[in-house]
Amino acid sequence: MGKIAIEHLVKNFNKTKVLKDISLEIEDGSFTILLGPSGCGKSTLLRIIAGLETPTSGRLFIDDKDVTDSEPKDREIAMVFQNYALYPHMSVFKNVEYGLKIKKIPKEKRRKMVDDVLKMVDLSDQAEKLPAQMSGGQRQRVALARAIVKDPRVFLMDEPLSNLDAKLRTQMRFELIEMYKKVKNTFLYVTHDQVEAMSMGTYIVVMNQGEIMQKGTPKEIYTNPANLFVAQFIGAPP
Ligand code: ADP
Ligand code: MG
Repeated sequence: MGKIAIEHLVKNFNKTKVLKDISLEIEDGSFTILLGPSGCGKSTLLRIIAGLETPTSGRLFIDDKDVTDSEPKDREIAMVFQNYALYPHMSVFKNVEYGLKIKKIPKEKRRKMVDDVLKMVDLSDQAEKLPAQMSGGQRQRVALARAIVKDPRVFLMDEPLSNLDAKLRTQMRFELIEMYKKVKNTFLYVTHDQVEAMSMGTYIVVMNQGEIMQKGTPKEIYTNPANLFVAQFIGAPP
């Protein structure tokens, strides 16, 4: 489960039109990449889906339920940010456990769930460390673990690898895809990096200046770009 449907979404910040009448469907269980240049509105769209920002107009559905006006906590979504957004004063274990506490899951069950997820991201032996004592790649894994443990229908990821060095980024791409295959939920992954988009997604949605330019498989987008912008942005032959 985890289909997202966006209907005629508009977002203005004062007079700036950031999202211009976006309609889009994200397939249940897909790994969909939202690709576009800096400033085109990717983060705004993701934040609206997460409920962290309200649209000016338009509707948003998750699994056919209208969630346009629901609180973030009622959306069965987990978001992974670029800067990890971990709690610096909490251990890895507590960082991952936090969301379960809020949901009032009993202590014993929480422990088991956190242990299982830490094993999954290969951090079992780091559970008592603080974020500051870890590498960038490890911190990113904690952020992932924190999302996975909530078992959301949809994972929203906003350039989660952009703070890592090139080598680690390549490695984390593989790890993310492995994770996706294990959990089988819907992933919506934002990047401005064409290479990343081409190598990771089931579908790519190309955005520019607040509009959707094209949606398709990496192959479709590469071999049959909808317009000049798409062709140039992904470096396809004209
Ligand atoms: P992207 O993630 O694709 O780089 P953003 O969604 O962050 O793009 O931003 C799109 C546009 O909206 C930018 O021009 C940005 O300056 C503007 N914007 C984003 N958030 C706000 C805000 N809270 N207030 C005013 N303008 C904003
Ligand atoms: Mg952004």
